[in-house]
Amino acid sequence: MAYGDLVSRVDFDMNRDSPFSYACHACNRCCRNKAIRVNPYEILRLARYLGITTTQFIENHTEAGGTVLRPKENGDCGFLGERGCGVHPDRPLACRLYPLARWVTPDGNESFGHLTPHPRTEGVYGRSGTVQDYLEHQQLGPFFEISERYGKLYQKMVDMLEKLDPEELDRRSDRRAAIDELPPGKLASMWVDIDASVADAGGIRGLGQETIEQELDGHIRRIEAWLISIEE
Ligand code: SF4
Repeated sequence: MAYGDLVSRVDFDMNRDSPFSYACHACNRCCRNKAIRVNPYEILRLARYLGITTTQFIENHTEAGGTVLRPKENGDCGFLGERGCGVHPDRPLACRLYPLARWVTPDGNESFGHLTPHPRTEGVYGRSGTVQDYLEHQQLGPFFEISERYGKLYQKMVDMLEKLDPEELDRRSDRRAAIDELPPGKLASMWVDIDASVADAGGIRGLGQETIEQELDGHIRRIEAWLISIEE
């Protein structure tokens, strides 16, 4: 299955001061027929919420190499239950930001746009607050901050691969398609599996021994050390 890019069809014509409000009435229609992408931080939060390792989470709840939440056969999100989202306190960035999308240019300019709502959504759109109010209410701050940290690391890795092998650039779209086609539960790289990367580095750890922030910092430090070792 190839994943289309919904965001490419959005007009990014709002900023944090733009008038915006959205009242969710829990119709759950936005939790169906979507590809919810997840990064290592979101996987870690979801795994810890469920009391399992990131390796188990990737095996049981993701597809596309561990980068997308695995839906049910009817297209519902795998975490959608009769009482709504089963992982609500640790739901991913895309679910918190909905019905907005965010775009950040390489020089750091940020804008927001409306995703096309489900035609029968019961959510109520308004202008009684601002985009900033909505972001705060959805507790999106750490999700943006950590996405940017991983984004910079990812770019560094890509740059390095291209330096080592210039033909890597031409292969990038083929590699992306190959990841989308991986069988459910199959991991594309150690990059997304924080617990496996700890084990790979010779560490042994029980669940809950460190905070999410400590686990994340350790993961980023390991990737940075790996990049430095390649550069040397
Ligand atoms: S994780 Fe929760 S909020 Fe996000 S799509 Fe799934 S059920 Fe909906």
